[in-house]
Amino acid sequence: MRKTTTTLADGRDLIYFDEDARPPRTAHDTRDLPSVHHQSELRYDLLTETWVTIASHRQDRIYLPTDEACPFCPSSEHNLSEIPEADYDVVVFENRFPSFSGAGATAPRAGIGNDETLPAVGRCEVICFTSDHNSSFGALSPDRVRLILDAWVDRTAALTGHEGIAQIYCFENRGPEIGVTEQHPHGQIYGYPYITPRTTRVLAAVRRHALATGKNLFDEVLANEQDDGTRVVIAGEHWTAFVPHAAKWPFEVHLYPTIRVPNLTALSDAAKTEFCSLYLDLFRRFDALFGIPLPYISGWHQAPSGTEEEFALHLEMFSIRRTADKLKFLAGSESGMDAFISDVVPESAAERLRSA
Ligand SMILES: [Zn+2]
Repeated sequence: MRKTTTTLADGRDLIYFDEDARPPRTAHDTRDLPSVHHQSELRYDLLTETWVTIASHRQDRIYLPTDEACPFCPSSEHNLSEIPEADYDVVVFENRFPSFSGAGATAPRAGIGNDETLPAVGRCEVICFTSDHNSSFGALSPDRVRLILDAWVDRTAALTGHEGIAQIYCFENRGPEIGVTEQHPHGQIYGYPYITPRTTRVLAAVRRHALATGKNLFDEVLANEQDDGTRVVIAGEHWTAFVPHAAKWPFEVHLYPTIRVPNLTALSDAAKTEFCSLYLDLFRRFDALFGIPLPYISGWHQAPSGTEEEFALHLEMFSIRRTADKLKFLAGSESGMDAFISDVVPESAAERLRSA
């Protein structure tokens, strides 16, 4: 893997991750871009003890541009995009419409006063998986997935320990069904300035379990799924993919490495290699379910800084499609009360994914 770091016209960072044999990446961003400014702020909800980011500038972001004006395609004579080069393998750059930015400021702490707001520090990056506008993650080669994994590892290492960043989330949304505003195959990397609500709840459970039993809850969940087997979708030497016992989404798969590690930077080379083919296998199964590309959200859950001994790296992938013509919408119970009701039995979801 060859890494080339450069700067866009408005000062944002852009990094190419290429196969070694590619030509050097030397093109400059010749656009006349205004500098990025945003008015994001963090507000703390005392009742649910969660941070909410108010990012009103994101209302102005580009919405479903035409293919000719794609900001994630390589630059051409007719389209000066976010990527100055005429080609690339994988590229990462700071989002022009970030939810948070400006890592380096002091991270806000939970428990501040009622009406206090703070600038939303943190970092939002975009990762383009391929220069091919019409491709998709599931159609990539194992070698390309490895390059993407190496880029995720690089970004996790680079953002870990940044002042102002508490947790790093590499994720992808696919499909207009779930509000994706860009068709070009891409994902995002968030450096949150706080520990997310979901991870906060999971960490509390892991700590209670460790106090009560002396054991790690992630280890126990994985061992239970492996012993039971009814919800396992695929198992390799280094990874196990299973539908969780209490899956919230119609089709939901969690992928755990056999050996617990806190984050992507700690994966062994053998685990990385097996991940590439196994993850692509999961994509094929998702898309085979209904014979149409499934909308999905897939993301890496990694240990927030300081929880490396407790938190286990794993990937969670799920789709909101429950039948060929029906989507799962977050309605009153889910949106209003965070109380999920699923129409699909996890064991039968696992069976369908196994035989897909
Ligand atoms: Zn494109």
